[in-house]
Amino acid sequence: MKLSVKKNDQVLVTAGKDRGARGKVLRVLASDSKAIVERVNMMKRHTRPNPQKGIQGGILEREAPIQIANLMVICPECGEPSRLGRKRLEDGRGQRVCKNCNATF
Ligand SMILES: [Zn+2]
Repeated sequence: MKLSVKKNDQVLVTAGKDRGARGKVLRVLASDSKAIVERVNMMKRHTRPNPQKGIQGGILEREAPIQIANLMVICPECGEPSRLGRKRLEDGRGQRVCKNCNATF
């Protein structure tokens, strides 16, 4: 299955504890069908101090991966969370089409 979410996309979270949150895709984990979205699905990580590595310790907050199925891409043209179609260009590259405003990106 081809994933429709790409790095740097703005996305809307449609399920889970951060439902309704919007953020930028920082990483796509294609093999897991997951993505890391800025400030979404934050997890607290307790870290032990390690002076040799310059690690202070304490509680760190980090984004945890979220299922791509729970994300909707926000169209850069109309600003709406959109269902996306796909279009193949003559040179073989795929483009995504917003089914809301028909913008390609
Ligand atoms: Zn659109």
